[in-house]
Amino acid sequence: ILLGMLLGIVVGVIFNLILGVDEVNKIPTTPHGQWLQTFVINGVLDAIGQVFVASLKLLVVPLVFVSLVCGAASLGGHSRMGALATKTMALYLLTTALAIALAMGVAVIVQPGGDVDMALASSFEAPTAPSVKDTFVGIFPSNPIQAMAEGNMLQVIVFSILFGVAIARTGGTIGANMAAFFENLNQVVLKMVMLLMQLAPYGVFCLLVKLFASLGFGAILDLAKYFFTVLFVLMLHGLGVYGVLLRTFSGLNPVIFFRKMWKVMVFGFSTASSNATLPITMRTVEHDLGVDNKVSSFSVPLGATINMDGTAIMQGVATVFIAQAYNIDIGIAGYLMVILTATLASVGTAGVPGVGLVTLAMVLQSVGLPVEGIALIIGVDRFLDMVRTAVNITGDATVSVIVAKSEDMLDETRFHNMKLNAETD
Ligand code: ASP
Repeated sequence: ILLGMLLGIVVGVIFNLILGVDEVNKIPTTPHGQWLQTFVINGVLDAIGQVFVASLKLLVVPLVFVSLVCGAASLGGHSRMGALATKTMALYLLTTALAIALAMGVAVIVQPGGDVDMALASSFEAPTAPSVKDTFVGIFPSNPIQAMAEGNMLQVIVFSILFGVAIARTGGTIGANMAAFFENLNQVVLKMVMLLMQLAPYGVFCLLVKLFASLGFGAILDLAKYFFTVLFVLMLHGLGVYGVLLRTFSGLNPVIFFRKMWKVMVFGFSTASSNATLPITMRTVEHDLGVDNKVSSFSVPLGATINMDGTAIMQGVATVFIAQAYNIDIGIAGYLMVILTATLASVGTAGVPGVGLVTLAMVLQSVGLPVEGIALIIGVDRFLDMVRTAVNITGDATVSVIVAKSEDMLDETRFHNMKLNAETD
């Protein structure tokens, strides 16, 4: 997988240079370039990449449903379940708020938008954010099949927990049989994940060639200060803050954690989607890091849906950047408001490529910054999206491990053993 990633990046960059992609309309300027783009990059490689992502997405709903039913059935609606859910949610929100605060702190020092000077245009159209009430009501499914068909993860989570709790409450032979049935099904779905993992090196290669072939490096140079500030805070949070949290709250060795997580990070990086990576995250958190299914079946899908620390970091830096570019001072109250709204925006950001940029509108609006400022950073967002998705996923795994450890649901032998993992199970 690592080789697939490195080769993909190298070949992608070479194609990018050969193509001489016109950065505005993405039409190669040479006949060779056009052929390369039409048949190789947008043809064969894109097809394989798409099949790979589809095969990951295919597993998301069955995996979350079956795994969460197992987890909820074995917890059986005990009060422990409430404690577990509260702790997970609280940690997700806290780490996100911390991420934005860090991002804005660094951005205020670096001043990424200091050299950019934008005149404020008179009109811009602000998209309307859904109300809190609608968001809350929307968590509860009226039709579970529709929720699954649409991939509405929060609704699938609610339905699966209810289903699992009902199995536990049914008890007796029927309850035991149903629980055993779902346990068996879970094994089969996990085997499917393992099978599809074999495609991973090729899939990762194809996705990355295409991405790097069409990446506008010129745009990165133009926005270097913004780009590298976001990248720096993403690294700091993804490697530093999570490492410190793991060590402080669980006394675990972060190096082992990262050595087991890097594969998942590569998936997040190449798909730019927390949702598509979910099967791999779940499998790694459970089998390689030793988190009990009762925790991971709930925490990982929930995290992939609502916990987006990387996205929040981009939004924190982007807000400061846009405020500086338009010479608007949002003040301390404004910064606090950004922490609040970006945390909520992260909850509302779906784990698919590029959505973080859309929910940024909500954050900008909350402090009266021009939403059109998004246009300034859109050119470099693609690569940042890839990196922040890797951070988003790492955050889900970190919180899962911390919660599992605190609830005595972490298999530490498994966590520490580099050989004991899903492949050897
Ligand atoms: N691509 C991100 C994810 O899936 C979301 C975003 O920030 O756009 O985690």
